[in-house]
This record gives sequence, C-alpha cells and structure tokens, in this order.
Amino acid sequence: MNLIAKYSLITGVLVGAFTNFIACGSQLYKASLADDNGPEEPTQSEANSADPTSTEFGLHAPSGWVNLPVIYKSDRTLSDVQLKALQLAMKTWETAVGKPLFEYKGVHGSITGDSFPDLFSSLSDKINGQYMDTNWSKTGKSKQVLATTIWSNPNNAYQLIDNADIRYNSDLYLITDAIRNSPTDEREVVDMQSLATHELGHLLGLSHIKDSYDSSSIMNPSLIIGEGLATRSISVGDVKRVQKIYGCYGTACDAELTARTIMQSGEHYGLSDKAKAEAAH
Ligand SMILES: [Zn+2]
Repeated sequence: MNLIAKYSLITGVLVGAFTNFIACGSQLYKASLADDNGPEEPTQSEANSADPTSTEFGLHAPSGWVNLPVIYKSDRTLSDVQLKALQLAMKTWETAVGKPLFEYKGVHGSITGDSFPDLFSSLSDKINGQYMDTNWSKTGKSKQVLATTIWSNPNNAYQLIDNADIRYNSDLYLITDAIRNSPTDEREVVDMQSLATHELGHLLGLSHIKDSYDSSSIMNPSLIIGEGLATRSISVGDVKRVQKIYGCYGTACDAELTARTIMQSGEHYGLSDKAKAEAAH
C-alpha cells in the first residue's frame, strides 16, 4: 500500500464527534494513514478486505492471532504518558470483544526503534514491540506517516498473525496526550491513544475502512491530528469487525452497547480548553 503523504486543511465543519465544532482561524489537519501498515510478505488479502460483500471485509487477517493474549514489550524510550495511552487503546479493543487480548512484559532491554536498520528488521527478534523511531527515514516511509504496523503471517497464511510491531514516528511528531499536552518544539502534536487505537486495529487484523462506508470507524485511513484533538473511540462497525475475528464474550456481544460503553468510559473525544477558545472566536 502506498502512503499518501499529505495533510488536508480542514476549514469547515468536522465529521463525527466534531460536528458542532467550527474551525475559525485554527488549523486542523487530517493526516493520511493510507500507508501505515503492511505484512512482512505480500498477501492476497487486500481484495477481500476492501469488498463489502466479502466475509473478510475490513479484515486483513480474518483468523487473527495464533496465540492470545498478544505478549508485547515496549521500547524504553516510551514515556509514562505514551505507555498509559497505549494501554488505554488496548483496553478499548479488549472491551470490544469482552476478554483480554494483550499482556505487557515490560521494557525490551536497551532496544529502541532506532536499534533497527530498517522497517521490517524489527520483526526478526519475534518480540511484539512498541517502538519509537527518532530516525524515521530508515523505515523507508514518508515523513508524513505517523506510525506503521508491521506483521508476519505464519507459513504465509494471511489469515493468521504470529508476530507484529508498531513503529511510531517520534522523529517528526510529538506523540503524546494531545488533550493535555502542548507542543514543545516544531513537531505537530499527535494523540497517542487515538493513533495507537488505529494501529492496534491493524495489529489485531483489521484493515482500513473508507469514511464513506463507516465515517466513525477508527480504521478510516486518516486521523485528525493537532493540539487538543483526539478521536479515541471506535464505531459499532469496528466492534462487529473485531468480533468477527475474536468472537465476543458476555455483554460485549451487544455491539451497540459496547461501542457506547467505550465512548462513555473515558475521554475518548475531546478538545483542549485552548482549542475550544480558538473555536469560539
Ligand atoms: Zn492504518
């Protein structure tokens, strides 16, 4: 998949949770996520995942992980804020299916995203890693890519995943809690929980969903970025699609209720006081 490395300046009414928010003077951006994911080896799953009539619609790995929970480690440079946001994003997907999906095994020694010579080499240690990259050009991805999820399929079976990493572009972006934190340098602020929720969707086996099909899906191939902006929730469709892979347990099986519960369980959408003040002008 090719990255479309561009921003679209949003000057009017934003979609979804932002329908009441008019941007007057403030610059809000949507960053493309079109090229933020991919398997280690090319697969044939793309056609089915893009076909709404297919049972594999929206899924790049319809059978999901070989083993659950997904055991993961974090790069030692992840801040407490980033790690908390990552784990809240994981909690969202666990709530969506009603069972644990992830298990944290601590810091990955001295290994960081910068330890790897290129993008896919981080898969070779078989550790499911969450990595910050401060030298993004090594990944071969465009500067505008916010993060990328990579995975391997056992025996080239695209239906299954046995290893995955997420590499975050902390070279060009300040990836943090965008509701609470302001820029510290020239980097644009990106909300870690919003970005991680999207990337974890890929890690679990979900592919992109066009805005025109489900405009509130976290798997839309774009993300609103900027100080004070977050889209941390998932749609009813996202709940149903992840349940197609992992099933559902208990009250999670009520997809509408589950999506509502997730949205109400935390600060999933938000504008900082500063952004609200700008919007009021
Ligand atoms: Zn994506």
